[in-house]
Amino acid sequence: MKVIIIGGGWAGCAAAITAKKAGAQVILYEKTDMLIGLGNVGGIMRNNGRYTAAEELINLGAGDLIKITDSHTRHKNINFPGHEHAWLYDVNLVEPSVRNHLQSMGIELHFMTRVVDVEKQNNEIIGIYLSDETYIKGDVFIETTGSTGPMGNCLRYGNGCSMCILRCPAFGPRVSISARAGVEDLQGEREDDVYGAFSGSCKLCKESLDKGLLKEIEEKGSVVLKVPPEDINIDKLKLKVCQQYALREFAENIVLLDTGHIKLMTPFYPLDKLRKIHGLENARFIDPYAGGKTNSIRYLSVAPRNDDMKVKGLDNLFCAGEKSGLFVGHTDDRYSKLQ
Ligand SMILES: Cc1cc2nc3c(=O)[nH]c(=O)nc-3n(C[C@H](O)[C@H](O)[C@H](O)COP(=O)(O)OP(=O)(O)OC[C@H]3O[C@@H](n4cnc5c(N)ncnc54)[C@H](O)[C@@H]3O)c2cc1C
Repeated sequence: MKVIIIGGGWAGCAAAITAKKAGAQVILYEKTDMLIGLGNVGGIMRNNGRYTAAEELINLGAGDLIKITDSHTRHKNINFPGHEHAWLYDVNLVEPSVRNHLQSMGIELHFMTRVVDVEKQNNEIIGIYLSDETYIKGDVFIETTGSTGPMGNCLRYGNGCSMCILRCPAFGPRVSISARAGVEDLQGEREDDVYGAFSGSCKLCKESLDKGLLKEIEEKGSVVLKVPPEDINIDKLKLKVCQQYALREFAENIVLLDTGHIKLMTPFYPLDKLRKIHGLENARFIDPYAGGKTNSIRYLSVAPRNDDMKVKGLDNLFCAGEKSGLFVGHTDDRYSKLQ
């Protein structure tokens, strides 16, 4: 059985491991030069019910990726608004470990290889086309392209391209493979019938923080700073992906976490306002690069599917991760694959 995985984020990596353990020949195509997609900018694990989900994954024999993130943990059992007993992994170190693990299992990885179209016969996909027009046949196809991009969507439904980790201008836009196969995407909506939602956090460069503040964050894992009253913007909470962040505390405070960079728990924050806060006078954004103005827009492409993760209307196209529903986290996306 030749299983072709399209998209190497957390969901694609989990799908590849599961298919390989089941005895298939597994080939994964990723448009950028890195695995784990949005996982390169996340970091928060095992908070709230995700602790149980992580333990369940391990006990069901699907804990490979949980063990890798655990092994790069910077902080364990920290609490901050909306998050109990969270663990934080180092976003700068985890990707190479995932890559080594997949390679050691004999999974064939192709980077900077974008899938752009499919060939279909009746309800089956026969093969895929890459952006250089190469044609590749397969038996089963798993789409894990996420729900973010292309760049035009961030321009239309957000405040412009945020220059996020997916780097569409350099590596090309996400393509909805299920849509190419004739199945219409579902799209998430936020208030006022606007499609998509803003990603909920940005990263600050460590070296740009006040030394005392940085020491405190590195020791405790998280620090909460007050936003000046004139800068509190409750309406901004409506833009966010994750309801667990849509709490008053996230409008009234700046929540900073140590994930290797300094994770700022807000979709974007004007630099001049940020620099008014003590300790952040010299702050600068490192991810997304335009974090002073905008962030990536997600939930623009979800495939209708059944409980076996099979895309409705097709016999051999499956999906997982954000592409398969309004999942908001690392654990959730991998868990979806286990179904
Ligand atoms: C800023 C930010 C912070 C976050 N923080 C956290 C957190 O702290 N904790 C948490 O649990 N979750 C967090 N999340 C959410 C979590 O990261 C995502 O839900 C999860 O990583 C999505 O995984 P995925 O595999 O479904 O999609 P993605 O990560 O989007 O992966 C899709 C992959 O497919 C590739 N691709 C797309 N189109 C093609 C194509 N045509 N051909 C080949 N490859 C293609 C993309 O390059 C990408 O690598 C965060 C998300 C963001 C954006």
